[in-house]
Amino acid sequence: MLQYYLWTIGCQMNKAESERLGSLFEQQGYQAASTAEEADLLVLNSCVVRQSAENRVINKLSSLKSLKRRRPNLTIALTGCLVDSNIDRLKKSYSFVDHFFKPGELPPWQDKTEPGQLLPHHSPPAAYIPIIQGCDNFCSYCIVPYRRGRERSRPIAEIACEVRELVRRGTREVTLLGQIVDSYGHDLPGKPDLADLLGELNSIDGLGRLRFLTSHPRKMSTRLIEAIASLDKVCEQISLPVQSGDNDILKAMRRDYTVENYRRLVTEIRHKIPGVALSTDVIVGFPSETEEQFHRTADLLSELRFDTVHIAAYSPRKGTVAARELEDNVTAEEKRKRLNTLEHLQEEISTEINARLLGTTLEVLVEARKQGKWHGRTKSDKLVFFSDNGDYLGQLVNVKIEKTSPWSLQGKVELKSNN
Ligand code: SAM
Ligand code: SF4
Repeated sequence: MLQYYLWTIGCQMNKAESERLGSLFEQQGYQAASTAEEADLLVLNSCVVRQSAENRVINKLSSLKSLKRRRPNLTIALTGCLVDSNIDRLKKSYSFVDHFFKPGELPPWQDKTEPGQLLPHHSPPAAYIPIIQGCDNFCSYCIVPYRRGRERSRPIAEIACEVRELVRRGTREVTLLGQIVDSYGHDLPGKPDLADLLGELNSIDGLGRLRFLTSHPRKMSTRLIEAIASLDKVCEQISLPVQSGDNDILKAMRRDYTVENYRRLVTEIRHKIPGVALSTDVIVGFPSETEEQFHRTADLLSELRFDTVHIAAYSPRKGTVAARELEDNVTAEEKRKRLNTLEHLQEEISTEINARLLGTTLEVLVEARKQGKWHGRTKSDKLVFFSDNGDYLGQLVNVKIEKTSPWSLQGKVELKSNN
């Protein structure tokens, strides 16, 4: 039997797209190989959001050159954000790669798919569904809009049909994905929005939970906040990247909001959605970021106390406005220092937030078992581990929390939930 191997790095969107490619290959008679060496078809799903990710992709590609020499019948395909519109240049640089296709697209040997054909076979308890491709925002530092193109939303009916099929196969939780997920629908007839989509999906029998990411602070409407608050299946969890706590840096980043706008939005969200968990993204060492400007970001994290923060050091990306017009003048050492400062700060905050959950009972959707321990997530996206000999895969269980850390919780199963 022919075997495929998928190598994936990057964001949740890349992971969701790889999952879909895997399903497609399995329906075409391939089975998953456990190593790249055994594969007949090898697909690299790449990320270039920062130089470090791009370096990993390039190293991986170099290692495949000799594999292809040893096994000329091996088919190698490259997708993800390394693939730009200049495919001829890519073909010259990586002549041992047989196919190139853009992120979110189908492999060139596949001209169309049947409805449902891209869904994961194994019906994971928690599945991801891309609902809007591309990004129209052009933040000055970001390569994504150049690689993933303009925004394209999928019709509500098509998404609902996929969710119903996933639920029929056993999925309980669905996360809707988009670079700016709250831009959903503006390009569709009748301009439905994310609140409309959530309303439609909330009525699907058998579906337990709905999530979505990533939100843009300027796009998050009161209507959406109220939909999250009122729809019972929508989890009280929002991923809302702030990127910086300084208005001049936000302006240079072309984020289109101020710290004051952001703070007001967080106040509204917390007021309307009690118990909401908020996560954010931050970039340190953006061109010309002073010590004082950096401290404004640290102060904002201390003030708003997010549940989780993803911190990245600025990495100039060729082709973006920031790389063209602004000098990358914060040293690598200084970036690392700022990154460490924020990581320590956030570790303390997450420790305190999670410690408050000690002794409480939380509902967990069990996603997998590893090394004898089950794990899953709460509605507010906390990772929970528990040991038990029962079979809990895909079930909603109540777990009494006995131990907490900044990154996860541990506990014991109590009663099973009814649903
Ligand atoms: N669309 C989402 C948003 O608006 O934030 C997230 C998508 S982006 C691919 C994921 C994160 O990568 C961003 O939130 C940002 O913090 C980080 N990122 C993007 N470009 C970067 C760069 N050039 N250097 C460092 N971090 C970057
Ligand atoms: Fe990149 Fe900004 Fe679009 Fe997010 S919103 S993908 S950071 S350009």
